Amino acid sequence: MPTKSWKNKKILITSGATREYLDPVRYLTNASSGRMGAAIAAAARRRGARVTLVTGLGAVPAPKGVTVVPVVSARDMLAACLKALPGTDLVVAAAAVADWRPATLSIGKIKKTGAPSVMFKMVPNPDILGALTKKKKNNRPLAAGFALETDDLILNARAKMTKKKLDLIIANGPEALNDDRTHAMILARDGGLAFYTGPKSGLADKMLDVLAGYL
Ligand code: C5P
Repeated sequence: MPTKSWKNKKILITSGATREYLDPVRYLTNASSGRMGAAIAAAARRRGARVTLVTGLGAVPAPKGVTVVPVVSARDMLAACLKALPGTDLVVAAAAVADWRPATLSIGKIKKTGAPSVMFKMVPNPDILGALTKKKKNNRPLAAGFALETDDLILNARAKMTKKKLDLIIANGPEALNDDRTHAMILARDGGLAFYTGPKSGLADKMLDVLAGYL
């Protein structure tokens, strides 16, 4: 166990799936249950940290003792995170953020026209984690993220770790979605690499153990 403790440290966690509305009833989203974010929040609380959970749509309730900020879109999530950021010791981005959003939001429900195909213009969403680490100074905030990849898992995860200025990244395949258990690789900024199979709560504990070494 690392000697440094999370007691009273401020941890900001993103979780769940963002929703990008096309019209008042339809949206684009991701297959995320919010389980991983909730598990990290619970583990951080058990260690005495002050936790803010900025969360999109999730299938699991937030753990007790956590400040929950519900959001809808990626842009809402970014705004809520920037507001919560001052004084944060660690950011963990476990949210499944929609990479794109519809270029326009229709005020009324879009009608069927009978046309054989329809086109919707999409624009990229902001990189929330990237925006939060951009102003990283004196090793703060520490940052951890996830890389869900179907190819070249380690290579892509390492590239993401550098690009997003992360201290730790969890690399996994899509099979981890919507499950209580996960099979993942834990990559640390000093080159450390560990494999993990088990419940998401155990992975959350491992992440906090590794990150405590950077406090
Ligand atoms: O770039 P990619 O989406 O694969 O990065 C995954 C990591 O970045 C996850 O930790 C995810 O929560 C975070 N992310 C983010 N904002 C985005 C896209 C991803 O915070 N727009």
